[in-house]
Amino acid sequence: MKCPYCGFEESKVIDSRPTDEGERIRRRRECLKCAKRFTTYEVIETVPIVVIKKDKSRQTFDRNKLLNGLLRACEKRPVSIDTLERVVDEIETMLQNSLDREVPSSLIGTYAMEKLKNIDEVAYVRFASVYRQFKDLNTFMDELNKLVKNRS
Ligand SMILES: [Zn+2]
Repeated sequence: MKCPYCGFEESKVIDSRPTDEGERIRRRRECLKCAKRFTTYEVIETVPIVVIKKDKSRQTFDRNKLLNGLLRACEKRPVSIDTLERVVDEIETMLQNSLDREVPSSLIGTYAMEKLKNIDEVAYVRFASVYRQFKDLNTFMDELNKLVKNRS
């Protein structure tokens, strides 16, 4: 979604809601380069996104599944469902905006991890441990150390 002011191609979604007719989504975006805000009206995409799983099997992208994974990671953490739904929205938008109709499940996991990292560190580590399936304790500790280092 090009910024109308500077032409930069990346922006973040600040707010997203369906129009009254429900066929389009009104999105408030902020340009990642010049930080100006603009509104887009986007047609709700009906082409399903296909997720390629590790065993190469295909499955239609299911936002509830992603949301459930995030909810599990955020159990007993101070993170609202609203926040997580926004994360799912953002990830879905990124997937819809990419030209590929088929995306590896690992990409979705990476997106989710990047977002969780900024929201809640405990949830991030939980999600990462399930997602990356840390093979041993050392890999897990490495990840934790990285987090601690980034913070200080
Ligand atoms: Zn701009």
